Amino acid sequence: MKELKEIYRSLGISEQVFTIGEEILEGLRERFDRIDEIAQIGQLKVLKAMQENQVGEACLLGTTGYGYNDIGRDTLEKVYASVFHTEDALVRPQITCGTHALALALMSNLRPGDELLSPVGKPYDTLEEVIGIRPSKGSLAEYGVTYAQVDLLEDGSFDYEGIRKAVTPKTKLATIQRSKGYATRPTLSVERIGELIAFLKELKPDILCMVDNCYGEFTELREPSEVGADMIVGSLIKNPGGGLAPIGGYIAGRRECVENAAYRLTSPGLGKEVGASLGILPAFYQGFFLAPTVTASAMKSAIFAACLYEKYGFACFPDSKASRHDIIQSITLGSAEALEAFCQGIQAAAPVDSYVTPEPWDMPGYDAKVIMAAGAFVSGSSIELSADGPLKPPYNVYFQGGLTWPHGKYGILKSFQSLVDRGLVLC
Ligand SMILES: *Cc1c(COP(=O)(O)O)cnc(C)c1O
Repeated sequence: MKELKEIYRSLGISEQVFTIGEEILEGLRERFDRIDEIAQIGQLKVLKAMQENQVGEACLLGTTGYGYNDIGRDTLEKVYASVFHTEDALVRPQITCGTHALALALMSNLRPGDELLSPVGKPYDTLEEVIGIRPSKGSLAEYGVTYAQVDLLEDGSFDYEGIRKAVTPKTKLATIQRSKGYATRPTLSVERIGELIAFLKELKPDILCMVDNCYGEFTELREPSEVGADMIVGSLIKNPGGGLAPIGGYIAGRRECVENAAYRLTSPGLGKEVGASLGILPAFYQGFFLAPTVTASAMKSAIFAACLYEKYGFACFPDSKASRHDIIQSITLGSAEALEAFCQGIQAAAPVDSYVTPEPWDMPGYDAKVIMAAGAFVSGSSIELSADGPLKPPYNVYFQGGLTWPHGKYGILKSFQSLVDRGLVLC
């Protein structure tokens, strides 16, 4: 298409890179059709939940002060519960991020003397301090909650024998991380999560199963709560916020679990009854409404990136053919120059701060310099097009997001062009 090529050229994409992209897309039609189908079903699920729970104009207004009788907040929680097939949900701007939501779910459902089990290996970095794997003020360990971990086997499968040994009468809660996060293990499909939960419940019927659902929402037809999870937990500046939520987290699950979390978030005796929504509700509702198609855009962007970079010899994880259960794409770029060039390309493609050049910096908590590209409307949002990576071998970049597929595509082509212009890829 002449106009498309023209506007790409005006945005710094050469005809050659444009053509490479178009060729790759030719081979992706079927997969993209399948993603669109999942998005279509997700969209209708959300719409149906909004209709059945009678979302009305009054729901968009919000409250101040204590926030008693906040019909918009309470209805939104019903909408989440309907979509995720749970008894209840807590969806609040007072939950500041994904880590906070996870900490809240854990700390409110565990008591001194209980043991927490991760049967899927090391949890997400920030949870190490929540649990007390790395000693930290206020950790679960400080409150007398112990922790056990069973790693995945070499081939990524569950270590059922190890799990059988690790489950004791003290084991109260199992935490299961759906997304690989920044580890190199496969992301768990909802089906596999269901198998693991069934195994755990057979060993100990009263064990609570919590799924860290970050980056997984709407990537499949079902959520982990439909295969036995007692709680699913996530961040609203990732998939379910649809790019519009400027803050927030959610916990959806069994009534008792959600109630415990609400008493911990606010106060014993108050629970879900307080927590003013201020002016946030339109963004929460509209973001959730957009989440299925926004997630589909991010999925397409991840697959397109894997296909493009793999073709030019870069190892991709997951690889271009793998089935996907989250929106994160890792690419092994092999040199600091390539990592910087990639991130600078993503940054240059952004709607906000496109004119700045990301530089590696010493980020607290990391043992190497880190480079980050993010030109987002919502600070730190990783459902928006973003990339980051530590400056150490093998120079992996972690790439995710893309509110729209055209933007995701452009961002990836721009990153590739940036490598081509520096002679870091031959094509
Ligand atoms: C992002 C993420 C978290 C933590 O969320 P923050 O909002 O960054 O605190 C936890 N687990 C996984 C798998 C994540 O991807």
